[in-house]
Amino acid sequence: VNEEASAKAAAASADNGGPTIFDKIIAKEIPSTIVYEDDKVLAFRDINPQAPVHVLVIPKLRDGLTHLGKAELRHAEILGHLLCAAKIVAEKEGIVDGFRVVINNGPEACQSVYHLHLHILGGRQMKWPPG
Ligand code: 5GP
Repeated sequence: VNEEASAKAAAASADNGGPTIFDKIIAKEIPSTIVYEDDKVLAFRDINPQAPVHVLVIPKLRDGLTHLGKAELRHAEILGHLLCAAKIVAEKEGIVDGFRVVINNGPEACQSVYHLHLHILGGRQMKWPPG
């Protein structure tokens, strides 16, 4: 798949508030490789890794957080919890000295799954600016 085509395909998807593939991952109806889990969040390996370590961290309860643009003050606790889980994942994966946390928000950022998630990327030299 060429890069431009995949960026366009991703940009075509937008928040419709419906269920996502992550519901099935949380329900363990489709398999994933879980790296960390607690009562509030689930961290699992991305199916299409963009770095040697590529883990997604998601809230188990979406609670309106299809994307970060929907965040309200009532989400402050889960948003903090997600970042703390990101640090735990980085430690577990041995990348705590160099890793990147990404949230793609909306079509222009190529968000493709509308259930808020952090990408934890590491295990290689990162570049800046990102693509
Ligand atoms: P986004 O593009 O929305 O920021 O990130 C969604 C991520 O979810 C992508 O990196 C994509 O590879 C990953 N993904 C989509 N479907 C699945 C799946 O069924 N299993 C896993 N493990 N990752 C998925």
